[in-house]
Amino acid sequence: MSQKFSRVKEEESQLLCRSYNRYPLAIARGKMSRLWDVDGKEYVDLLAGIAVTALGHCHDEIVETLTSQAKKLWHVSNLFYQEEQLTLAREILSTTHHTKAFFCNSGAEANEAAIKLARRYMAKVKKRQASEIITLEGCFHGRTLGTLAATGRESLSDGFGPLPKGFLQVPLNDMTSLENAMTEKTAAVLVEVVQGEGGIIPLSGEYLRGIEELCRKKDVLFMCDEVQAGFCRTGKFWAFQLYDLHPDIMSTAKALANGLPMGAMLATDTVAQGFDLGSHATTFGGGALTSAVAAKVIEIMKRDHLAERAERLGAGLKKKLNALRTKHPGKIQDIRLVGLMVGIEIGEKCPEIWTGLLEKGFICGLSHNATLRLLPALTIEEQDLDAFVEALDALLALQ
Ligand SMILES: *Cc1c(COP(=O)(O)O)cnc(C)c1O
Repeated sequence: MSQKFSRVKEEESQLLCRSYNRYPLAIARGKMSRLWDVDGKEYVDLLAGIAVTALGHCHDEIVETLTSQAKKLWHVSNLFYQEEQLTLAREILSTTHHTKAFFCNSGAEANEAAIKLARRYMAKVKKRQASEIITLEGCFHGRTLGTLAATGRESLSDGFGPLPKGFLQVPLNDMTSLENAMTEKTAAVLVEVVQGEGGIIPLSGEYLRGIEELCRKKDVLFMCDEVQAGFCRTGKFWAFQLYDLHPDIMSTAKALANGLPMGAMLATDTVAQGFDLGSHATTFGGGALTSAVAAKVIEIMKRDHLAERAERLGAGLKKKLNALRTKHPGKIQDIRLVGLMVGIEIGEKCPEIWTGLLEKGFICGLSHNATLRLLPALTIEEQDLDAFVEALDALLALQ
């Protein structure tokens, strides 16, 4: 441990709430898929701020958009009309069947907006007493009280009760449980097409289509949480487009403004009628600065065909990882990969491998101490992924 790093670590323990169990690394600087720590050591970043800096760190065009908007207008609140917010709305809605947007500041807030809209639509438009939200085991929807209730993981809500009522969770891949859980009280089913925090667990198209069909049959809203899987990461602009799904409401955030905090909730015209003037609001949401940056992010993603790029790079990586699995029998338990959303399950040796990779200069995520999680920038060079595979190969050979 370097002196600089020790000082940062020590200072943090005095100054910040004990809340984050951080990786042993203090980052000073970044450019595209490279990061440098406080001692100047260079890393290949395969995590991209948890799928946030999808265009890479300090992307030239984003820096340009950010600085020029910073000289023009940052924030005036949602008491005023702002063209930047409309430009962003036009861009984001051009990628999906949804027709109405609401901007906020994070993934949890986007899910809160989705949950509130679903309930209010049922109460005010459908005039039904249907407020229950059904989620799937293994999901993650955020850390506010409402989204903790939706996430339904006791380890995360320990000591924070009581949580809001009206949330129900069913086992994954079990249509019967879902059907049994749906009653006249159900407002919506909320799903992640690929469960991210759960350890990169892709749901099957057949299962997802079954869920949507059941929602239609029972007149229940179908909602997708695209906070992590959205923005070209899975090979389509939105993960639900992989399976031709049509969620009534979707939430997103992470990559939206490439590192500025921003979230969005998108809905169809019909469901959006659930909100009225004053129904829902946020001080910061959709501010001029974040909106200008986010609109540019989407423009670049479309222009540079980053969904196709994610699919192509993901397919290449999958082949190479499968070859590693064959070469090192029993050492890789599972490879779960959709585009550039990658989970490599290694089991109990995973923390050791993860540390070895860090020493070799590769930053990965470590999920549940068992799975390497890769969420690289969609602009990452193929050679960087190849170098990662080579490093992993060398580390597996030592096991
Ligand atoms: C990260 C994440 C969230 C929460 O987003 P925050 O910005 O941390 O509130 C919600 N849903 C999914 C699927 C996520 O990956």
